[in-house]
Amino acid sequence: MSGPDLDLVVRARRAVLPDGEAACCVGVRDGRIAVLTGYDDAPTAVRTVDLADDEVLLPGLVDAHVHINEPGRTDWEGFDSATRAAARGGVTTVVDMPLNSIPPTVDVAALRAKQAAARGRVHVDVGFWGGAVPGNVPELAALHEAGVFGFKCFSAPSGVEEFPYVDADQLELALAEVARLGAVLLVHAEDPEVLDAAALPPTGASPRDFSTFLATRPPEAEDLAVERVVAAARRTGGRAHVVHLASAGALPVLAAAQSDGVPVTAETCPHYLALTADEVPTGATEYKCCPPIRNARNREALWSALRAGTIGSVVSDHSPCPPDLKCQDTGDFTAAWGGIASVQLGLPVVWTAARRRGQTLSDVVRWMATAPAQRIGLSDRKGSLRVGADADLCAFAPEEELTVDPSALAHRHPLTPYAGHRLRGVVRRTWLRGRPVTGEQPHGELLAGGGAR
Ligand SMILES: [Zn+2]
Repeated sequence: MSGPDLDLVVRARRAVLPDGEAACCVGVRDGRIAVLTGYDDAPTAVRTVDLADDEVLLPGLVDAHVHINEPGRTDWEGFDSATRAAARGGVTTVVDMPLNSIPPTVDVAALRAKQAAARGRVHVDVGFWGGAVPGNVPELAALHEAGVFGFKCFSAPSGVEEFPYVDADQLELALAEVARLGAVLLVHAEDPEVLDAAALPPTGASPRDFSTFLATRPPEAEDLAVERVVAAARRTGGRAHVVHLASAGALPVLAAAQSDGVPVTAETCPHYLALTADEVPTGATEYKCCPPIRNARNREALWSALRAGTIGSVVSDHSPCPPDLKCQDTGDFTAAWGGIASVQLGLPVVWTAARRRGQTLSDVVRWMATAPAQRIGLSDRKGSLRVGADADLCAFAPEEELTVDPSALAHRHPLTPYAGHRLRGVVRRTWLRGRPVTGEQPHGELLAGGGAR
């Protein structure tokens, strides 16, 4: 006599499916979704889990912008802590950025060093971006074949000297190569000359005031750099993606390019959607990131762009550092490292802000799971609850309130601008390929993208 042929069935009164919410059962076999049935037609399985009435089943989120920093700056963040935090936040796939680790991921040897550091130690699935820096165009094809999901470059100083930025000509060279490879080029888009011209705060301005820092990263720096990226994508046909878009001023150019069929996409981050410059307390350097959090009108324009699809995805840009580099003792915004650590909090932060604006959980899943999975070419496996996909699941209680307690964060450094914030939405459980993620035994895999898929 044979037993049930499914390993797991998860029954949910509410599940976010590709065509909207429904009550259903998700049947899992060998780590994949084998069957979706009606709620009352639960198939038999070795194990059946009934979600609580206040829980909604979501596909595991895909965070395509995470800085893990290992090897080389593991004291900033590492694979174990970052991916544990991700799992607790309902994120089951992360793609690691090529900088802030040493070496940066700018050639195949560096990618192998990253993979060696990650192997056997990750609690969720992990992929890698390669880096495009001046002079490494000849390395890009080999990196693509070795499995990076695409390439990231900066159009202005990156903050670390081992990852220099590309000028306009180098950007175009990289995009042309990316077009040839069928890859994508991610661009941190700020114009270095505009930044230079704004670099010196006016005399008498306090470095503890957020407005002093804000004035050094004007929106025009983003707007001009995005214009250049769009123009380069238009000329080369290379696929470009603007990371962590913060300035709404860049949206008209992006929207026009998209409607002309230029291959350019954009993402934004939870902090640009939830926070405003006005609310940053004096000396609260945990709010510093580049580009900066801007005003409320700008924030609402980002929401409109998400609704319209000009911005397709929301990713954390999780970018931690040790507390001393945040200059918490002096509260000096101009000296502090720019980066916000939020991989564990992205879902409740975005959901709280989205819900207030009448958006649905389906919208949030589209922005934080389905769209990023599509963008990195993993939509057959990740980002939606459909038969054949990996059984990456998240049980989310959208109405439960929480007060953010930094000591409950699994990030290496729990410093967060959300400390004490009241949010809605608690991740109760996460499954990776059908197995619960407990934080004990890491069973995440290293994902291959690019030419290795
Ligand atoms: Zn980043």
